[in-house]
Amino acid sequence: MIYLDNAATTPLDDDVFEAMLPYLKDDFGNPSSQHGYGRSAAAALLCARDSVADSLGCKSDEVYFLSGATEACNTVVKGVCAAMRGRGKHLIVSSIEHPAVLESARDMEKFGFEVSELPCGENGIVDVDLLKKAIRNDTIFCAVMGANNETGAIQPVEEIAEVCASRGIFYFADCVQSACYRSTPLENLSAMAITAHKMYGPKGAGALYIKSGEKISRLLSGGGQERNFRGGTQYVAGAVGLAYALEKTVKNRAEISAKIKAVRDGFLEKVLKEIDGVHVNGENTLEGFANLSFDGCGGDSLLFNLDLNGVAVSRGSACTAGASTPSHVLLAMGLGQARAKSALRFSFGKYNTKEEAFEVAEKLKLAVAAARKC
Ligand code: PLP
Repeated sequence: MIYLDNAATTPLDDDVFEAMLPYLKDDFGNPSSQHGYGRSAAAALLCARDSVADSLGCKSDEVYFLSGATEACNTVVKGVCAAMRGRGKHLIVSSIEHPAVLESARDMEKFGFEVSELPCGENGIVDVDLLKKAIRNDTIFCAVMGANNETGAIQPVEEIAEVCASRGIFYFADCVQSACYRSTPLENLSAMAITAHKMYGPKGAGALYIKSGEKISRLLSGGGQERNFRGGTQYVAGAVGLAYALEKTVKNRAEISAKIKAVRDGFLEKVLKEIDGVHVNGENTLEGFANLSFDGCGGDSLLFNLDLNGVAVSRGSACTAGASTPSHVLLAMGLGQARAKSALRFSFGKYNTKEEAFEVAEKLKLAVAAARKC
């Protein structure tokens, strides 16, 4: 099977697994316990937190471990609303955010908050001028992701961060996808989320950066863990795995991004040359992404054909892939139903080779021809 769904999740690296193993077995203690087992787990958590802070470029007490980016997005959207409701009730979120942000914001409408969903251009990129126009006196929160998880389109995070900082608006960047390829300066950001399983780490382990002094309430009450911000016994092995996976990502980013780009570009070149009626969705994308629409084809039937022929790809975000509704991201880009319904996301990772890309392009050619015959 050729795996081209690395934006959905990546395999766990062997050395990351090795680093986690002691905390799943012998050093299994609860980091809140006062005996030796607990102290050993607490020490591992401390090292993991320092390492994540180092990798992200922030202070250790600005890093919170949690179960992944869905929890981080829920925590930030709902936690800011709870903490800042006296100051305003207006939230701005881009229309191409992951459902973890979009649905969290929509949940807040039931409590009297008003949500503006920022449109984006056909290129898949949010327009900073539209953001400036959307800001009101009572705007308390803005979320625009680092790069989109369906198209890979890189968003103008630094510009948005500056605008928000100058207006005193809490700015959250979901950097789950972009963190694999580039760093995000935290200077003007209020909060940022990453998750380990997109960078060859374990599932169920994420980190949330929150700038010191930002106003935000906790989502999970409990035993005082994570400096009383996120209750629940920490997943020590997960935090260790996340820290190590992130450290490796940061260290090897340039080299791995270049390798992935070469493989993705070779695939794109062949597909665009040898298959008619193919459209690339999104511009200025992360190196591993190729989101393509195919005239006269259904995305689902192409996906099933490729799956039967040993190729794993996706219709878009894994979380919504089960339901074959057209992508909210492609629709928000104004590409229309037909283009959205015929789209597939090919997402390359560090283990993919040029030979695999060539083979997938060949299989895709046959799949498209078969779909167009029906
Ligand atoms: N945000 C983005 C941009 C994602 O791509 C994903 C996962 O697909 C998430 C959030 C959710 O992350 P997790 O699986 O860690 O909950």
